[in-house]
Amino acid sequence: MNNQNLAKIFTTFTHICEIRGDKNDFFRVRSYQKVVQILENLDKDIVEYLDDNKEKFKENIPGIGKESAKKIIEYINTGKVTELEESKKTIPDGLLEMLEIKNLGPKKVKKFWTELDVTNIEKLKKAILDGKIEKLSGMGQKSAQKILEGIEILNLYNQRKPLVEIYFDIQEILKEVQSHPHVIKADIAGSFRRHKETVGDIDLLVACKQENREKFIQDYLNMDFLEKIENQGDTKVTAYLKLGLQIDLRLVEEDQFGAAMQYFTGNQTHNINLRTRAKQMGMKINEYGLFNSENNQLIVSKTEEEIYKALNLDFVPPYLRGGTDEISLAEKSKLPKIIELKDIKGDCHMHSTYSDGKNTIQEMAQKAKELNYEYIVITDHSQSLKIANGLTPERLFEKAKETQKLNSENIGIKIFHGSEVDILKDGSLDYKDEDLRNLDFVVASVHSKFDESCEERYLKVIENPYVNVIGHMTTQEYGSRKPLELDYDKIFAKAAKHNVAIEINCSSRRNDIPSDLIPLALKHGCKFFLNTDSHSTQQLLNMQIGVNLLKSARVKKEDILNTYTLEEFDEFIKNNINL
Ligand SMILES: [Zn+2]
Ligand SMILES: [Zn+2]
Repeated sequence: MNNQNLAKIFTTFTHICEIRGDKNDFFRVRSYQKVVQILENLDKDIVEYLDDNKEKFKENIPGIGKESAKKIIEYINTGKVTELEESKKTIPDGLLEMLEIKNLGPKKVKKFWTELDVTNIEKLKKAILDGKIEKLSGMGQKSAQKILEGIEILNLYNQRKPLVEIYFDIQEILKEVQSHPHVIKADIAGSFRRHKETVGDIDLLVACKQENREKFIQDYLNMDFLEKIENQGDTKVTAYLKLGLQIDLRLVEEDQFGAAMQYFTGNQTHNINLRTRAKQMGMKINEYGLFNSENNQLIVSKTEEEIYKALNLDFVPPYLRGGTDEISLAEKSKLPKIIELKDIKGDCHMHSTYSDGKNTIQEMAQKAKELNYEYIVITDHSQSLKIANGLTPERLFEKAKETQKLNSENIGIKIFHGSEVDILKDGSLDYKDEDLRNLDFVVASVHSKFDESCEERYLKVIENPYVNVIGHMTTQEYGSRKPLELDYDKIFAKAAKHNVAIEINCSSRRNDIPSDLIPLALKHGCKFFLNTDSHSTQQLLNMQIGVNLLKSARVKKEDILNTYTLEEFDEFIKNNINL
């Protein structure tokens, strides 16, 4: 996490310099931008490049100069960079927040500040509504409107965070807490544990001996993932995470840990239903355990399993605790069997260095093999997407040759030659038939003109015999683009008819199609691919989050086509060309 945090710090630095716009800041901006790039591309945590005393770098990292190195070392040793703290004071607080608005860079922020004295998002919104922004030179009604939309989106996502974005960070935080010497048990409850698509806050439960509580809380308050402490008591701490969420720590007794986990995991309706059931059985349930309601004697409290068992229920996994029919199903031992990570046999949407990926085909294959997959499809971008280094037919042919060569070396995983082919403005594909014919697999995606025209484009491209799956259909991106409002009924119906699958894209920016559209697609008989859309080997791990999200949406193994074994998948793509 150090690399990420540091990249963020240096980015903030450049923003401050750009907003101030001093002439002598110019070179600093350039060199900090370079440092950010280096940090983002390191394979190892920056700490590993420092000597044992963390006083200097073991060797030179080209591009990181003396000044930047000093700042990095200060951050590693103290958790902050004094110069940044100081330079933050040189501009009004709200300006940096304004930069979180999509399509708004430091230059414009500077302009609004110096010309209209706009110093925060609230004032900016007012200036737009008053028509002042559009009158500035270089601005206009359209660009003002764009900023306003950006503010709306920011507000929409600011409170809740998408699970795909925070999942691994929260796991790391949990690990850090669990490894504290006074912690007997620690876990995260709440909507995070139920794999909700977005998470509003983090509920952290910790069991620790009475006599160690004070010491633990002291250490906890100093853990480096916390940003700000809101409230602090003997058994509860409310704080904010650096990554931007509230976190509630509760200290509980070790032998009540299960009861507390059950209680704080929810959801509320599930707990109410459980309470009603307990009452009917002469018991009562709360965060301390399950009790006999007549004499208040404890029945069970240690584990959740014991609690569900004592209520004559099969164990209800957290992701099924949605407050619908899960209790009556658990009573009859009829809880649905849902997809597991081990069911996934391949990942069918990823990029290599041929287009905009960070790793080679071979590296992607190696990592996928470590994840026990039987196959992958490398789906680099098509020719029109020049910004992502899309492949010309010639380069597509080269990629096919390399794939063939790797496969002939028997590397222990099969690589299929695919492409993420752009759906053009008229609904046609971005390669000619003669090129498409040589591809094993086609993900058809929209990467331009994100508007209502997509409906017609999807309906048309579904008829294209070479298309296997439509990628990230609603085109939503967290924090920057809302899902397209299209007639999904119509699109799903046609996709099912033409055997074109729908992608569930679980890259950390997307989660698309979102969970609430899944039942509609299933109703029409659509099948899905769950893909990570990885642009690096690391991102392949996102499959875990994707599966978790599918669990809470109750998706079964047979609805996901990349649960096919290699033989089945091979057969599938041979037959899936609808000529
Ligand atoms: Zn894409
Ligand atoms: Zn992609």
